Amino acid sequence: MEQYFILSESKFSYIKNRLDDIIETYNELDIMTENILNTYDKQNISETNISETNNIETEKKYIDIFNIPEAKEIYAELSESVKILKNICKKRIQQQCEHSIVKDSIDIAQEKSQQITYCEKCEKTFTQ
Ligand SMILES: [Zn+2]
Repeated sequence: MEQYFILSESKFSYIKNRLDDIIETYNELDIMTENILNTYDKQNISETNISETNNIETEKKYIDIFNIPEAKEIYAELSESVKILKNICKKRIQQQCEHSIVKDSIDIAQEKSQQITYCEKCEKTFTQ
């Protein structure tokens, strides 16, 4: 089995997990931003004086500049590309593996299990 693909797959996994963490963080930021922008919209402008209104408008403009949905989209695309690279490596590993096939049963529901056949080295599953 070529060491290159094994090492690459683990590196791509590492990158993908981190990208997914970043996307998750952007999601949290997105919700926070939506909430704060809603708060700004609900504020009664007539009750605030002119200089305060200017500050609110400026802040709102800056928060909009973060452009969180677009930034999130970039990371989502990257994550998708890395997933493809990871799958290419996995396929290569499975093609070159000298399979060591094992049978196992997995629980799919309470008191219901399914027989699976897979390689314990490369995790390729086989239909029975
Ligand atoms: Zn295998």
